[in-house]
Amino acid sequence: IDDSEQPGSRMVPEACFSRIRALQPLVRPVFVALSQTALSLLGLSAQEVLSDPLGPEYLSGSRLLPGSEPAAHCYSGHQFGLFAGQLGDGAVMYLGEVESCAHGRWEIQVKGAGVTPYSRDGDGRKVLRSSIREFLCSEAMAALGIPSTRAASLVTSDLYVSRDPLNNGQRILERCSVVLRVAPTFIRFGSFEVFLGRDEFSGLQGPSAGRDDIRAQLLDYIGDTFYPQIQQAHSIRKDRNLAFFREVMTRTARLVAQWQCVGFCHGVLNTDNMSILGLTLDYGPFGFMERFDPDFVSNASDKKRRYSYQAQPSVCRWNLACLAEALGSELDPAEAGAVLDEFMPTYEAFYLSIMRKKLGLVRIEEAEDRELVSDLLRVMHNTGADFTNTFRLLSRVPWPEEGDSERATVGSVVDLILEQCASIEDELAMILSLAQTSPLMFGMVADSPGMTQQLELLGRLKELVETNQDDLKRKQRDDWIHWIGQYRRRLGRECDSTSDLPVIIKERLKVMNGINPRVVLRNYIAQNAIQAAEKGDFSEIVRVLKVLEKPYSDPETLFGRDGCGEMEHSGAELDVAYDGKPPAWAQTVCVT
Ligand code: AMP
Ligand code: MG
Ligand code: MG
Repeated sequence: IDDSEQPGSRMVPEACFSRIRALQPLVRPVFVALSQTALSLLGLSAQEVLSDPLGPEYLSGSRLLPGSEPAAHCYSGHQFGLFAGQLGDGAVMYLGEVESCAHGRWEIQVKGAGVTPYSRDGDGRKVLRSSIREFLCSEAMAALGIPSTRAASLVTSDLYVSRDPLNNGQRILERCSVVLRVAPTFIRFGSFEVFLGRDEFSGLQGPSAGRDDIRAQLLDYIGDTFYPQIQQAHSIRKDRNLAFFREVMTRTARLVAQWQCVGFCHGVLNTDNMSILGLTLDYGPFGFMERFDPDFVSNASDKKRRYSYQAQPSVCRWNLACLAEALGSELDPAEAGAVLDEFMPTYEAFYLSIMRKKLGLVRIEEAEDRELVSDLLRVMHNTGADFTNTFRLLSRVPWPEEGDSERATVGSVVDLILEQCASIEDELAMILSLAQTSPLMFGMVADSPGMTQQLELLGRLKELVETNQDDLKRKQRDDWIHWIGQYRRRLGRECDSTSDLPVIIKERLKVMNGINPRVVLRNYIAQNAIQAAEKGDFSEIVRVLKVLEKPYSDPETLFGRDGCGEMEHSGAELDVAYDGKPPAWAQTVCVT
């Protein structure tokens, strides 16, 4: 359907895509950053792109690439548990597909390139802040080994849109910016939900044969293109569809297990943000959990905590149930239900197998390993431990030796772990911020007279307990020593009398340091890069990207032992900047 005459907010019946005939160029587009690894998927090099004066125009959807036929995709979705009807690419344009000999076929999209028929009340634009977060996190996830859509370039411009970044009613002008996204496909669960409730939303009456046809075509397209093994293995349509659904279920279970194991919270796990290929899709108010808390929520506007860290696996299962429903007569309901029942066990198995590696338990599997992990998480929760840093430090827990004195042997690693656990100040800052953001939890109502008094009380509480820092640390130390004892006994069982201990010890270190990242894209790291970029300095983005591209490397290997590697910044400086305990102000960064 050609909707170029009437862009803007409306329903587009019987469409999966709408052609975009007129581009909406940025004003003086410039590159902010490029990802060499993502560009190379398209057969491009950063050098090549930079040397073309039209590069920023081409890669921001400001100028038509030869052969490109821009379009916006029509999808629906369940948002925060409710069916929202038609959504669609409101701020994204599909530019086409790139065949790169070495790397296959890739769909490219520009995010923030202007209005489409699906923009509703929006302007189809994205600003520097959100684009930097999407750009950096797409590349960070890929480097972590977690399936993700990619980001090849980030362009900003002298075109401005008005936004309310702090959600406090104060609008400011921000620069329109565009990320070039890359993935085999951006088709999502919501792409199938378009066929649900279509009558209601488009005015179509009664069951439409055309609708079922389009759904079958879309399903076949995805099968043929992205799941050819499944397509070929089954000649009966229903069997093939069920195998496809099981594969999507398995990929989704693996993906969410990987998220849980790096403490990643997606933030907006709506069905329209669930990739049909099991990729991390749509980087908005995501967050990497710092202080471990199963109830962590990265999206400040998710007041009901629907998409908390601990809820992610069950939310993914719920989303898969929506997909099954949307596939309708393409699936046998009972068989689809049986596949859905496999989700949690499949997820648990992926999760446990990654967690074993995170603990360096590579030789044997014990039934009690599950408990060892949940005990660790409990200690992390009780002591306010930083998720990323704790796991990275566990490789320093010394291998048990006969007759060693536990407290003395593990003393130095416990010291390191305690350094990044909560201090009294952290605990109180958290209580105070909870009191301020959720006054009802404390029986307080914002701006009520009682509120001030209660905050004062909490302030006094702070003074009182401050004197007991030593007690807190002693308690935390005991918790950690207890768990580490358990862990070391388990480590000991990794080798029997016939095994070669030095080999096992070496293997343990290699596995652990290859799966527990040293750095992740913490909000405050992104925030520093955003603040510099908003002042016109893009160097911090480049620096952060460089570090995130090698999340498992130590700074010496990244930047050379003398600290003078490929970049001007020293390894020591980077170490302090990105992999320490987050600064106190990190807790105040708020994304919606
Ligand atoms: P999200 O929460 O990012 O998954 O987006 C939900 C819906 O809002 C999708 O249909 C988006 O395309 C649309 N949307 C997001 N940002 C904009 C924008 N700036 N202008 C128009 N539509 C948008
Ligand atoms: Mg989305
Ligand atoms: Mg989004």
